[in-house]
Amino acid sequence: MDYFNYKKNTLYAENVDLNVLAKKFKTPLYVYSKRTMAEHFNKINNAFSEMEKIICYSVKANSNIAILNEMRKLGSGFDIVSGGELYRALKIGADPSKIVYAGVGKTKEEIDYAIKSNILMFNVESINELKLINLEAKKFKKKVKVALRINPDVDALTHNYVTTGKKENKFGIDIVLAFNIFKSAKKMKNIDIKGIHMHIGSQITSVIPYIDAIKKISNFITDLKNQEIFIDYLNIGGGLGIIYNEENPATADEFAYAIKPYILNLNLKLILEPGRFIVGNAGILLTKVIYNKKGIKKNFLIVDAGMNDLIRPSLYGAYHKIIPVNLNKGKEVLYDVVGPICESGDFLGKDRHLPEVKEGDLLAIRSAGAYGFSMSSNYNSRLRAAEVLVDDDKYYLIREREKYEDLISYEKIVK
Ligand code: PLP
Repeated sequence: MDYFNYKKNTLYAENVDLNVLAKKFKTPLYVYSKRTMAEHFNKINNAFSEMEKIICYSVKANSNIAILNEMRKLGSGFDIVSGGELYRALKIGADPSKIVYAGVGKTKEEIDYAIKSNILMFNVESINELKLINLEAKKFKKKVKVALRINPDVDALTHNYVTTGKKENKFGIDIVLAFNIFKSAKKMKNIDIKGIHMHIGSQITSVIPYIDAIKKISNFITDLKNQEIFIDYLNIGGGLGIIYNEENPATADEFAYAIKPYILNLNLKLILEPGRFIVGNAGILLTKVIYNKKGIKKNFLIVDAGMNDLIRPSLYGAYHKIIPVNLNKGKEVLYDVVGPICESGDFLGKDRHLPEVKEGDLLAIRSAGAYGFSMSSNYNSRLRAAEVLVDDDKYYLIREREKYEDLISYEKIVK
C-alpha cells in the first residue's frame, strides 16, 4: 500500500503530479509520501497496541532530518548505528530516552557522545565493547544501560548480505557465549544490564525465523532468571519485509499475531526497530531518460539516475519496479534500464517490459524510500540527488541537489 498512483494517465505522489516535481526540482529526484510512511508506522504501532513498547525507527533506512522529524512527531524513537546518526536524531529534538545504539564497531568517541547524550541504551555486540563502555561510563561517573545483542543463529531466509543472525555473521554475541558475558556484565560497576537485543536480518518475509529466534531467546531469559539475572527490555530489532515485486511478506498484524504468544508471558518492555517497513514503499526515485540506445541484443534506456543514487540493484541484485510517469498506448518493448556510470553493474532494472519510451520521458523507480538515498554516493563525481517530501497536495524540498563546489569542498591541493 502506498500513495503513488495514476490519475488518468499521470503518476502522482499523493495529490502532486510528478511531472511538476521533475520540472521544478530536476532529476534524479527522490520523492517521499508522508502519508505512506505515517500509515506504515501506525500499522506496526497498532499491531502491538496492548504492549508496553518503544518503536525505534531505524535511521539508516532513510536518515534525512525531515523524515526523522516526521517519525518523532508520530511518537517514534530511533535506532542508531553511529555518532552521525545520533547527531541527526538529536538535531531534530529526538527524546534521548527513546534512542538505542547498535553496531559492531562503536568507537570510544562515539560511546562518549552517546553517554553524554543520555540515550536509553547501547545494544552491545561484544565483550570488548562492553568493557570499553564500562570504562567510559566510569569516566563520566555514570551507570550506563545496555542490552546484549544475541546472535540466535537462525537463517532469516533473505539475501546473504542482509542476514545478520547466523553464527558466521559478525553481529551480536553467540547465544552459547552470552551467558558468561551476562555474568561478567553483572559485576561491572558502571554497567546496568537491562535487556536483550536481536536483529536477524532485513527484508524478511516469513515470521518463522522470528519465531525460531524468539523461542531461543525466551529460553535464554529463563536461564538468566534462574541465575537471578533479571532484565526489563526485549528488543526484537527490525527486518520486516516489504513488497518490491511479487513477494508476499507477513503484514504487521500477522507478524504480531505470530510472535506475541512467545513474548507476552515474558512481561518485558518491547522495542522494535523497523526501517524498510516504514519508509521502503514511501519513496520513489524519479529519473529521466537521456538516451534510447538500441543494441544488437538489447535496448538500453540510459537514464540520469545511476548506482550512485540507488545501489540496491547493483549490490544485491535487488528488484525495483520501474514505471512510466506518463502512460502512453505505445507497444511494449523490452528494455534494460541503466545508469550513466562506468560500470557494467550500473543498472536499475534488466529485461523490463515498458510501453515504448522516448528520450526525455520520466520513469519512476518504485520502493526506493529505504536504503536509497542513505546508501547513495558521489561515485563518478556525480552530484547526489535532491529529495522532496509530499504531503497531500503540498511538497517540500528536504534536501537540495548537490553542486559541483560540494564535490571538492573538503579537498585540498598540495602546493
Ligand atoms: N536494527 C538493526 C540493528 C539493523 O542493523 C537494521 C538494519 O540493518 C535495522 C534495525 C533495520 O532493518 P530494516 O530496515 O530491515 O527494518
